[in-house]
Amino acid sequence: FNVPMPVNEPVKAYAPGSKEREELQRVYKELKGQQIDIPMHIGGEEVRSGNTVAIAPPHDHKHVIGHFHQGDADHVNQAINAALAAREEWANMPWQSRAAIFLKAAELLAGPFRAKMNAATMLGQSKNAYQAEIDAACELIDFFRFNVKFMTDIYAIQPESQPGIWNRMEHRPLEGFVFALTPFNFTSIAGNLPAAPALMGNVVVWKPANTQIYSANVLMELFKAAGVPDGVINLVYVDGPTAGEVIFKHRDFAGIHFTGSTGVFNNIWKTIGENLNRYRGYPRIVGETGGKDFIVAHPSANAKEVAVAISRGAFEFQGQKCSAASRAYIPSNLWEEIKDYLIADLKSFKMGDPEDFSNFINAVIDEKSFDKLKKFIDNVANDPEAEIIAGGKCDKSKGYFIEPTIIKSSDPAYVTMCEELFGPVLTVYVYDENTPFEDTLTLVDSTSPYALTGAIFSSDRYAIELATKKLIHSAGNFYINDKPTGAVVGQQPFGGARASGTNDKAGSVFNLIRWTSTRTIKETF
Ligand code: GLU
Repeated sequence: FNVPMPVNEPVKAYAPGSKEREELQRVYKELKGQQIDIPMHIGGEEVRSGNTVAIAPPHDHKHVIGHFHQGDADHVNQAINAALAAREEWANMPWQSRAAIFLKAAELLAGPFRAKMNAATMLGQSKNAYQAEIDAACELIDFFRFNVKFMTDIYAIQPESQPGIWNRMEHRPLEGFVFALTPFNFTSIAGNLPAAPALMGNVVVWKPANTQIYSANVLMELFKAAGVPDGVINLVYVDGPTAGEVIFKHRDFAGIHFTGSTGVFNNIWKTIGENLNRYRGYPRIVGETGGKDFIVAHPSANAKEVAVAISRGAFEFQGQKCSAASRAYIPSNLWEEIKDYLIADLKSFKMGDPEDFSNFINAVIDEKSFDKLKKFIDNVANDPEAEIIAGGKCDKSKGYFIEPTIIKSSDPAYVTMCEELFGPVLTVYVYDENTPFEDTLTLVDSTSPYALTGAIFSSDRYAIELATKKLIHSAGNFYINDKPTGAVVGQQPFGGARASGTNDKAGSVFNLIRWTSTRTIKETF
């Protein structure tokens, strides 16, 4: 299969005075000054329900930048029908044509769409320019490019034949439509969840999180510009229960590609089980859910490296990553040095509107998230076992700003050590450096039901081997002497097990293979 060898898209620096920075600032201001009307997209048509909902940036929640058209059950049905009508032609299209469409999407995003996609992500999801660039530009470009290669790797998987008998496998799309239910925290994930099944020849009904609709609208523009045919990806804005009621009862429901919370995913799984007799087959269920990601330092670790991993792993992207470090296990011999570094580092973080490129920390996504985080932070004051080491201020007067916060607890089972908070809050447990390391590792493994990412820091090979072995099921992505975030497509296939999801590894052949249902053919001559 002769397809372009994928390379990871280089991250632009947006240096002061650079043309790329000027362009991004210009587009950001332009979008900020408009109020756009955002329709649904069904079968290539723009659909307006007339029931509009305002969208405002999380860092400036009184400033309206657009309105989306809220749909209902009829719109979901229309989207399913449009998908099914487009299915046969799309499934029968030569794979080269499907590949070309998504390779075109990659090049459009690397070029003319880059500034708009980044600006929409900065404005709608409150990310700074560098984070938007890593997410909405580079990671999504990588998904498009690498998925094409993964698709051909799958097509190349063929059985043995013999003289007189030709065995072959036909990697067909699923029979029906795929539902993409996508999160706010990564524009790249919102784009990849419909795109990956579509590349494999499936048709898709896509429902983004309400808090990502602003950039989802730009993603849809990109899909259209790249040549994704009408009806292949249909974008609807409905509430979860309405979408679920129609989709999970539909005979042609063939699979779900999900990123979101564990609770929602559990309900979806149950609903699918309850409706199993309605479907043609067993739907594919692919989900990436929550995390309570750890950093564990061995007494031999380099304190500065651990501290850098904590401040980057926990606070970049406001900690709104499934992979974000949120609990750290630090030996007593390193704690003072790590603490001093963290306090100084967190003081240097500037917080505010992404329009000012020197602001490293932006707002959390919405009021619900702000209130939840504030409650956990406020509760520390009432707990003799916990204290705030750095940060702790919360202010929602203009935007939903939560200062990067470090809590220290003497109880390794303290609530913020166990529960996923999805924000810029990390809890530290300092263990006695003389504790057998194996006991600390047992604690790391048993504290949380999740198993998404985790990191071990040590300069002692024995400790690294021990941790790698003892934590075998504690993280789907395990980092040795590095922060537990920032998986790169094609380099660190991403996903977790236990309560963190089905571990189908985004950015790898394992994910793409879920969007096929293979027919084996034996032909005898
Ligand atoms: N892939 C991202 C990372 O490695 C995280 C994605 C997510 O938060 O869902 O940091």
